[in-house]
Amino acid sequence: MVIRTGVVGHPISHSLSPKIYNTWFADVGIAGQYEAVDVVPENFETTVRQLARDGWRGVNVTIPHKTAAYEIADYRNPEAERVGAANLLVFSEGKIIADNTDVAGFRSCLQSIPTKTNRAVVLGAGGAAGAIIAALSSCGEVSIVNRTLSKAGALSERADAKTQAYTWDALPDLLQNTDFLINTTSLGMTGQPRLEIDLAPLPQQAEVYDIVYTPLETEFLKAAKARGLRAVGGLSMLVYQAVPSFKAYTGVEISDVDAMLRSLEEVCG
Ligand code: NAP
Repeated sequence: MVIRTGVVGHPISHSLSPKIYNTWFADVGIAGQYEAVDVVPENFETTVRQLARDGWRGVNVTIPHKTAAYEIADYRNPEAERVGAANLLVFSEGKIIADNTDVAGFRSCLQSIPTKTNRAVVLGAGGAAGAIIAALSSCGEVSIVNRTLSKAGALSERADAKTQAYTWDALPDLLQNTDFLINTTSLGMTGQPRLEIDLAPLPQQAEVYDIVYTPLETEFLKAAKARGLRAVGGLSMLVYQAVPSFKAYTGVEISDVDAMLRSLEEVCG
């Protein structure tokens, strides 16, 4: 029997997930099919329930549905509960089980990124931001900067780390004492407005991560590199978060993650 899975989002044409999962299905010799499903918010729940009825094993969930995915689940694994958002829904015996593999995905990235993170600034408070903040739980202070202050406040209340919520006008002051700046907004993504911030106040040793991965090198990353800062794009997180999702669908753990990273960099670079 073919394992049917996919990713539900809007927009979704940018997604590299079908390439990742379909390659892994072929690599490990499992009959599987992973599709991108474009669904607007008002159809999210009915579509997901239909896919479950159609015998799909589960779906990944991306922009803008991660909070809705958390809300429609019958059961939530601890990571989804902690974040209040889900990027993975597994269908089992008529129930929907939510998980959040973005946390583990970003944690894996952290192992190779900052040497020391005491003060982080997270731009954005959407579905992905909670996972980033959860992964930064050992960080000294995390400032959450978002257009909608109430959403940043809600994430701050849920977080383990020492966090505080701000609007964008606080950014110039915050950046002066930041050693890790992470963009989790959709700004800079292909088809979205640019992320335009002045990086001049950042200390020279600061590191920058942009979870946006289309394009691979966003204007934000280019600006950070032009300032001489170490700057990394979201492809690594995308691949690392896919490993536990693939395991949830198939029971198989992918060990050679770097091979996939190299292959995607070649295709998209
Ligand atoms: P989301 O839930 O829709 O959140 C979007 C965030 O961007 C919100 O904080 C929103 O602010 C902010 N934003 C959007 N337009 C804005 C504007 N014009 N001005 C200021 N702020 C704006 O999306 P998400 O699921 O968190 O995903 C965000 C991005 O991360 C997407 O590009 C997605 O592809 C990427 N992502 C990458 C990975 C990876 O593995 N690399 C994982 C997850 C997500 P408000 O709250 O004020 O609306």
